[in-house]
Amino acid sequence: MLEELKKQVVQYALAADRSGLCKHRSGNFSVRDPETNLVCITPTGMDREELTYHDVVVMDLDAKVVEAETGHRPTSESLMHLMVYKTRPGINAVAHTHSKFATSFSILKKPIPAVVYEIANLGCKEGYIPVAEYGRPGTPALAESVVEPLKISDVALMESHGVIAVDAVLKEALLKASYVEELAEIYYRTLTILGNGQEPHVVPPEELQKWAYPQEIKLLPGETK
Ligand SMILES: [Zn+2]
Repeated sequence: MLEELKKQVVQYALAADRSGLCKHRSGNFSVRDPETNLVCITPTGMDREELTYHDVVVMDLDAKVVEAETGHRPTSESLMHLMVYKTRPGINAVAHTHSKFATSFSILKKPIPAVVYEIANLGCKEGYIPVAEYGRPGTPALAESVVEPLKISDVALMESHGVIAVDAVLKEALLKASYVEELAEIYYRTLTILGNGQEPHVVPPEELQKWAYPQEIKLLPGETK
C-alpha cells in the first residue's frame, strides 16, 4: 500500500540523517496521501541506514495504524504530524528534526528574525520563525503546541526540542528544515560577533514581501558574457 509515498519517506528521512539535521534515531517524517488521507510515517527507534520502505507505518488521521508491514510502531510524535494534516489544508508532508543551532534558540524561546533573505521561502507571514510552546514529547500537548505557530509560518522551533517544517511535498519540507538550521547558525554567529546582547539588523517584512523572481535577467552595463 502507498509504496511510492513510503519510499519518499525513507529517502528524505535518510537524507536528513546524513546531512546532520537529526542523528541517533531522532526526528521523524511523514507524507499524507491526499486521496485517502492516509499518512505514511517513520517508525520509532530505527536506524535510518537500516530503514526500508516496508518499515514505514501507515496511519489514518484518527491515529489508527492501518498497516505496519514489519511490525514496527509509528514514531512517538505521530500525533503532532496528524494534527498538522488536520489543521493545515494543502500540507501533505511534515519534517521534524533536532538540528543543533535551531534547537539552541528553541531552548531560549527566541524566535529567529529575518537576518537573511532565505526566510522569504519559509512561509513566515510575520517575518520571523516562531517558537511553539513546550509540550512533552509524545503527548497531545506537543501536537497542540505547533498549531498556533504554523498558522503564521511553515516552520517553527519547538521549545526545548527541535524544528518542525511543513509543505505540500516532503522534499520541500526537508529543505525548509535545512534553511531553518542555516538561518539559526547565521543568527547565532551574528549575535556572537556583536556581543553584549546586541541584535543584528534584520530584513524588514515589507522588503521580504516584495521578493519575486526577476522578470528578465540582464547583464549590467559593462558586464560581458
Ligand atoms: Zn522530536
